[in-house]
Amino acid sequence: MHSISPETIFRGNDAWAEALPQINKITKKPLILGRSIHTLNLRNKIFRDLKNHNLNVSSDNLQFDCCYEDISRVKNIILKNNHDSVIAAGGGKVLDSGKYIADCLNIPCITIPLSASTCAGWTALSNIYTKNGQFIMDVALRSCPKILVYDHKFIQTAPSRTLASGIADALAKWYESSITSSKIDDGLVQQAIQISRVLRDQLLIDGEKAFKGVSEDNPSWRNTIEACGLTAGLVGGIGGEKCRTAAAHAIHNSITQIITPNKFLHGEIVGVGLLLQLRLEEMKNNNKLANQSIKQLLVLMKELNLPTNISQLGINVFENKNLEKIADFTLREKSEIHFLPFEINKQELIDVIANFEKQVLKI
Ligand SMILES: [Zn+2]
Repeated sequence: MHSISPETIFRGNDAWAEALPQINKITKKPLILGRSIHTLNLRNKIFRDLKNHNLNVSSDNLQFDCCYEDISRVKNIILKNNHDSVIAAGGGKVLDSGKYIADCLNIPCITIPLSASTCAGWTALSNIYTKNGQFIMDVALRSCPKILVYDHKFIQTAPSRTLASGIADALAKWYESSITSSKIDDGLVQQAIQISRVLRDQLLIDGEKAFKGVSEDNPSWRNTIEACGLTAGLVGGIGGEKCRTAAAHAIHNSITQIITPNKFLHGEIVGVGLLLQLRLEEMKNNNKLANQSIKQLLVLMKELNLPTNISQLGINVFENKNLEKIADFTLREKSEIHFLPFEINKQELIDVIANFEKQVLKI
């Protein structure tokens, strides 16, 4: 069983207004879940509009992350007040929490991404973290959200950094799915990989123009936000668990284990993981094109102000046994890195990361 897409998707400049009557049909007492102070105005608007449609609406905020502490607290609120749906309005952590809670309680989830930072508004998957933001595991849910509202006017208000993060995360789909799944004899998986290739090409063409020209009038921006928030989700939906993440996400997960004063966005960390994955492919899989891909990605990532190594994520790998910690978590038994078609041992991974950090990357 896999759930390919949300049941209903509203997209474009008036998506929220168009979605309201449909939302009214499936819920009478929703709980709006959010987190960031930056999205408060939009969430207040969502709240008012639902109230004006005669819904008995309440709201609550995550205190930490998509973590068990917040999840069980919000679950209790929903049970106590008999809410009949969750409306998750925010970034990936809020969307993942809302989906997970709705799945546990068997009530519908409506996702309203307020940035293009991830495809979490689409997928039947939640990533669970500790309350300090350390990755624990991803959980497959029974279904994608009931309704996805991808309102361009909402997304336009997000900081441009979230768009850059979404681009890096969506780019990783091709590099991860093609290396793990290109030999799988399943038409749907192969089609998903090809969609992710077209998605990558579109982001390489439009990503920078989108980042530098955030406007609904800019076709590059429209295409890019939909690529990050919708198409990237579709790849996961069609490809299912076979269209897997690989080293880029495994390295992301291990970097989150090191707590830093400044938080970085999911895609910002995945982007660094992606460069390291390509370096591994170059060394261990004799992939001659990997170095070209690194150069190509570095040009774009610099234009998007994305971090390009671990030190730019505020972590010195040469201190506090950080290299060892990252390598151990990346290579732990349940890690996605084992989906790579070649073996890698701890010392090799440490050497690759250390050399990458030391290297002055030349374009
Ligand atoms: Zn991701």
